[in-house]
Amino acid sequence: MKRFYFFLTCVCLLAGGFTATAQVFRNSDLEISQLEDHVWVIETTDKTSMYIIEGTDKAMLIDTGTKCEKLDEVVRTITKKPLYVLITHAHGDHAGNIQYFPEIYLHPADTVLLNKSYKGLIHFVKDGQVFDLGGKKIEVSHMPAHTPGSIVLLDRKAGSCYSGDAFGSGQVWLQLRPFATMKTYISSCKKMEKLMAEGITKIYCGHYPHVKKALTMDYLLPMRKLAESLDNGTDKSAIPFTTKVSIGCDNPMIATNGPARIVYDPEHIK
Ligand SMILES: [Zn+2]
Ligand SMILES: [Zn+2]
Repeated sequence: MKRFYFFLTCVCLLAGGFTATAQVFRNSDLEISQLEDHVWVIETTDKTSMYIIEGTDKAMLIDTGTKCEKLDEVVRTITKKPLYVLITHAHGDHAGNIQYFPEIYLHPADTVLLNKSYKGLIHFVKDGQVFDLGGKKIEVSHMPAHTPGSIVLLDRKAGSCYSGDAFGSGQVWLQLRPFATMKTYISSCKKMEKLMAEGITKIYCGHYPHVKKALTMDYLLPMRKLAESLDNGTDKSAIPFTTKVSIGCDNPMIATNGPARIVYDPEHIK
């Protein structure tokens, strides 16, 4: 199929080794680079990210970003296949342009957070549901805590997953309403560990511009241990989290264990 690549390839040297990403599109809101065979990352200038996965029959857009004028047309420069639009969770920086698409898929537990003005069709996904793109199967895995309906999307054949903000987006924010307990997050970490033991090796997170690489077990294990130490009161790393913007609670704290960081509300650990 004929494709239009608007910009010359750039090769980026990334932390942890040589990872080549080929930039294929850019406008004033975003740039698109190829990550893997038939997989692209869209990075917005305000550091959110989306992913496009293309099979032989259909394609999938994971998340819809923040300010991305005519996102539907932008995606069409990459693939013209029929498109599933999956939302990892309903925060505005992941579901910001759903108005450009006639239907979206998300977990029902996140409808409380979704922009109520959306006029399109909302399909609910469930844990274990599989989207067959033709030669690529993408599986839904429910990973609550950052939001009640956060999902991770698995491409088991490629060993990749797309985690939204459930894992890896700079700090994992657990201080937001509706609150989840730390035990809920520990359960999600353990579920992710099991998936990684079964062959997922790469976590592509919902704010890729902050990390510029896939995360691995070297990230996930310290994250699970950090969540456990917060739950059982043994963490010694926590300090007040200061930010100029309101982030959902009065006295947020941030705890750190190697590459893992959790922002949380000490009033809502249990
Ligand atoms: Zn979020
Ligand atoms: Zn986010």
